[in-house]
Amino acid sequence: MTIAIYPGGFDPITNGHLDIAIRAAKLFEKLIIGVYNSPDKYLLFTTEERVELVRQAIVNQPNVEVEAFNGLTVDFAKKVGAQVIVRGLRMSGDFVRDFDMAMMNKYLFPELEVVCLMATLKYQFLSSSLLKEAASLGGNIDNLVPQHVAVALRRRSQSKM
Ligand code: ADP
Repeated sequence: MTIAIYPGGFDPITNGHLDIAIRAAKLFEKLIIGVYNSPDKYLLFTTEERVELVRQAIVNQPNVEVEAFNGLTVDFAKKVGAQVIVRGLRMSGDFVRDFDMAMMNKYLFPELEVVCLMATLKYQFLSSSLLKEAASLGGNIDNLVPQHVAVALRRRSQSKM
C-alpha cells in the first residue's frame, strides 16, 4: 500500500490545499495531511484548531487522514510508514523553496519520493497568509476556503479587532 503525506502549516487550510489533497488521494491508497506543529507565535490558529479545520474539510474523503507532527518531515514520514511526500506548487516561488527542501529530504531519507502537483489555475494566487490578510480587512473570502474555515476566520478576525 502506498502511503503519502502532505505536510504544511495549513494556517488555515484553503481550497488550494484541499484541491491538492483530493487529487493526491486519487493517486495513493492513503494520504495523511501533516499539520506542522510550528513554534511560530504568529500563527492565527493553534495546532489543534488547524488540525480540526482540516479534519472537517476532509470528512468526505475516506482515504485521507490528518495528524499534527513535530520535527523533521522525514521522521513523520517514517513514523506513519509513508513512501511519498506530496507538495503543491504554485507558479510564483514555490518551486525554488520546494526543490531545496526535496534535496535535503532526499539526503536525510533517500527512499522517500517527493511528488509535486501543480496548483490548479484558479487557486494559483491563493496563500494562507494573503487569505488571512484579506479576511482581517473584511474581504469576502467565501470562495477561497471551505465554509467552516470562512466562519472560523471571521470569528478570529473579529476577536482580534
Ligand atoms: P501556505 O502558507 O503558503 O499556504 P503551507 O505550508 O500551508 O503554505 O502549504 C502546504 C502545501 O500546500 C505546500 O506544498 C504549498 O506549496 C501548498 N499550497 C499552498 N497554497 C496552495 C494553493 N493555493 N494551491 C496549491 N497548493 C498550495
